[in-house]
Amino acid sequence: MFERRMTRSVNVGGVQVGAGAPISVQSMTTTKTADVDATLEQIYSLAAAGAEIVRCTCNDLEAAEGLARIVPRSPVPLVADIHFQYRLALAALDAGVACLRLNPGNIRKAEHIRVVASEARDRGVPIRIGVNAGSLDPQIEEKFGITPAALVESAKRELGYFEEVGFQEVKISVKASDVRLMVDAYRMLADVVPFPLHLGVTEAGPPPTGILKATAGIATLLNEGIGDTIRYSLTADPVEEARAGRQLLEALGLRERSSLDLIACPSCGRAEVDVISIAEKAQEALGDLNLPIQVAVMGCVVNGPGEAKGADLGIAAGRQRGHLFVRGQVVKVVPEGEMVEALVEWGQKIASEGVDVALASADESAAAEAEADRQALLEIQGEDVNQAEAVVQTIRKR
Ligand code: SF4
Repeated sequence: MFERRMTRSVNVGGVQVGAGAPISVQSMTTTKTADVDATLEQIYSLAAAGAEIVRCTCNDLEAAEGLARIVPRSPVPLVADIHFQYRLALAALDAGVACLRLNPGNIRKAEHIRVVASEARDRGVPIRIGVNAGSLDPQIEEKFGITPAALVESAKRELGYFEEVGFQEVKISVKASDVRLMVDAYRMLADVVPFPLHLGVTEAGPPPTGILKATAGIATLLNEGIGDTIRYSLTADPVEEARAGRQLLEALGLRERSSLDLIACPSCGRAEVDVISIAEKAQEALGDLNLPIQVAVMGCVVNGPGEAKGADLGIAAGRQRGHLFVRGQVVKVVPEGEMVEALVEWGQKIASEGVDVALASADESAAAEAEADRQALLEIQGEDVNQAEAVVQTIRKR
């Protein structure tokens, strides 16, 4: 087994990156971030496929406002991808994201970078310096060409601005679509900075070639002990990125092979049940059965089945009942006290007979009962139980 490079550690919304922590899998949504429902649905699919951190673009104020609504309901920490406008980084911090990604080639004014780093420092939010060979600062490109040294210089220059305001919660990427360039840049960077590194071959293209290129770059570095978090950048459904990342780590023996994959929503103002306790009981009851399925425990019936529709099986709570769903379709409504037993029964059914058989044996009245509960809760609670609109107003005042 190769020795991993020791780095500092950063905490991305509860996921530790660096300092020997398990290498984490990342992916990025392809939806408009302003489209809250579509983005959340994709985030849940990504989490179910193995993504532990998800990046969303924050390219305008509508996207920042979308993040304010998405963050309280996301099952994994979110990174806001900032390209040109430093004010959008501030808005994303208002929205409560767990990390920012800044491209040094795009935000170039030192005073703007310092403002963002200061605000991130005050909030305890890390920043990824995301250097990209395709969008280098023209000054750096002129001096160094598109070379490993140019990518490393860009990262070091950004670090210098961060250091001026005492900000060190940093991870760094130096991505390129050319695998050799990417590998050499990361090797060079690993020798000169103590920060955790996010690995990726940018614009790798569609599978299977994209997966091959990304694997060539990422696996080469991981086998040298370099890299603390990874992303496959594929021209495909991002679920494929998350799966590929997870599979690579498992193939290299860097993460344990997954059997049961239990995901749970983080709970929010809508939760109708103690999600943590139900998730723990479900993990305990299902864990020993070694079922190779994804199971979701969701705090509410208003959003749960839709948000976790990528999972094979799930349960969502509402009005003292549990809505059991298979791939997002409600198949049975059970009393709240029987939620875990129902998951075990249907988990075994899916594992032995398959999803289609499980769907075919759905209770006839389940969907209508579930919809009635959902509507009743919407009437009682309204649309905005997370007070996301108050945050949106803060963003609008910037
Ligand atoms: S309680 Fe409902 S809306 Fe809130 S995070 Fe869980 S599933 Fe999503």
